[in-house]
Amino acid sequence: MSYRGRFAPSPTGMLHAGSLAAAVGSWLRARHAGGCWLVRMEDIDPPREVAGSAAAIIAALAAFGLVADEPVIYQSSRIAAYDAAFAQLRRANMVFPCWCSRSELAAGGGIHRDGRCTARPDPGRAPAWRARVPDETIAFVDGWQGPQQQRLRDDVGDFVIRRVEGLYSYQLACVVDDAWQGITEVVRGSDLLDSTPRQIWLQQCLGLPTPRYVHLPLVLDSEGRKLSKSERSQEIDPAHPMPALRQALAFLGVPADEKAVRPSALLDAALAHFDPNNLTHCSDIPTP
Ligand code: GLU
Repeated sequence: MSYRGRFAPSPTGMLHAGSLAAAVGSWLRARHAGGCWLVRMEDIDPPREVAGSAAAIIAALAAFGLVADEPVIYQSSRIAAYDAAFAQLRRANMVFPCWCSRSELAAGGGIHRDGRCTARPDPGRAPAWRARVPDETIAFVDGWQGPQQQRLRDDVGDFVIRRVEGLYSYQLACVVDDAWQGITEVVRGSDLLDSTPRQIWLQQCLGLPTPRYVHLPLVLDSEGRKLSKSERSQEIDPAHPMPALRQALAFLGVPADEKAVRPSALLDAALAHFDPNNLTHCSDIPTP
């Protein structure tokens, strides 16, 4: 099967150095493999969204020379597919309604492990729906981080598939769309490394293929903290793309052409030197 990769930002603010590194890393892997690079806008959490940021992210990617090979998919237009996957999980008895409050969950250490709701069902209140996770270890080999494993029930417990407000979780939507878009390799930041076993388990439950995973190291700020889209000071400037693009390539350990003056020329030159087995990192590089 030919390579299909993707970059899947959430429209919760502008790109920062970390998300740009993930975008460039996924683009390089896809281009090097002679495959497709797709963009999926993960706009299924309206309370967290920042108005205008979806369009701003797409425009910024274009300013950095990163243009998707197919039309951008918006998850807000895919609810029927998530409804179908949810119905499939319900039929297989793999989800259960849960009325547990935050304080009840906190009393259990914040992790729900019972495989059923221990609170009294409340017909007047919509429940959240949780996955009934088995007491199993999910193991996989990450392309950058090496062998990984997670005890689903101990480490994450019965995780939320559909929230009280009726919104589907990132885990479900991501798995449904990675399969629907035919993604063969997921390249993303290592902040999502601990989501991957849940996603692999959901793929198994839904009869979907498991892509390869490559979790890039996180770009940290000068104080060693993870960058966040909600902190505007860490945004990158699409009007001056070259410094941030050079920084992203340096972070990924890819040699950058000193003479390139446009993002597309810099990316093409980087591609010529790119060794997919040598995605190194320098996490002490300060952000622009
Ligand atoms: N939408 C997620 C984020 O912006 C990334 C999802 C993914 O790459 O799987 O953090």
